[in-house]
Amino acid sequence: MAITYSSQDLYDELVRHKLIIPVGVPGAFGRGAVFEDVLARFNDLVTRLAKNDGAEVMAFPPILDRQVFEKSEYLDSFPQLAGTVFSFYGTDLQHKELSQRIHDKKPWEDLQKMTGVVLTPAACYPVYPSFTGTVPAEGRLVDMQNWVFRHEPSPEPTRMQAFRVREFVRVGSPDAVIDWRNMWLARGVELLSSLGLPAKSDVAADPFFGRGGRMLAASQKEQKLKFEVLVPVISEDKPTAVCSFNYHQEHFGKIFEINTPDGAIAQTACLGFGMERVVMALFRTHGFVPTEWPKHVREQLWP
Ligand code: ZN
Repeated sequence: MAITYSSQDLYDELVRHKLIIPVGVPGAFGRGAVFEDVLARFNDLVTRLAKNDGAEVMAFPPILDRQVFEKSEYLDSFPQLAGTVFSFYGTDLQHKELSQRIHDKKPWEDLQKMTGVVLTPAACYPVYPSFTGTVPAEGRLVDMQNWVFRHEPSPEPTRMQAFRVREFVRVGSPDAVIDWRNMWLARGVELLSSLGLPAKSDVAADPFFGRGGRMLAASQKEQKLKFEVLVPVISEDKPTAVCSFNYHQEHFGKIFEINTPDGAIAQTACLGFGMERVVMALFRTHGFVPTEWPKHVREQLWP
């Protein structure tokens, strides 16, 4: 059976099968029970695959300390994607004004001020401050699943404003970090291929902002700092990144004062599965009814 690759068709099918629930805002739909089941099963499969890696499991809320965010230099690269949390700090009088303006459908943003938190811009950001100091000789490995915010409203179902990332972060010596990244690059492609997804890896670049950003992206590609595992979901020619690998070199080590026992600045790398995208790739490839998926795929997800 030929697969239709189209953004609108994928969206319509996901809605029709009650896999996602529109909420009115582009890129911010609800998820139905079957969608969530597939997501949880894939998550379990990743856990089984990584069970002997010795990762520490951590969980963070979908917000990040604004000071950590500022230190991370995210706004230097991706101002267009960030989400800063604002709230009301005013008096009774200003509260009356706020209510009045909202009822009158007038602008009210000047009556709110920035809080001490931002929405988590990338799944791994909350973890770096916890590495400050000297890491053990073998480094550390952390396993997380976090909600991430990206300000890029779009009708395209794979481009979400909020989504979950199953992420592993490795910190240690350059060799340890690169070996680990390479091991997972092969493992990630193998995992997705084993689920019948036509996955392949490629060098990639982040969506850096503006004219200066184009140079940053070119340099990132040249240095092979970012890889993605791609699967056709809404297009065959432009497959969707379902897993992303970032090698930060000393970026976070310098900012958060993380060292290896020999006194060098520790390096970091991370890899993240875009959970909703993996689920959508499965639905697109195998159809929208999981009970009808190929046996070898079902056996892996529902062992
Ligand atoms: Zn990361």
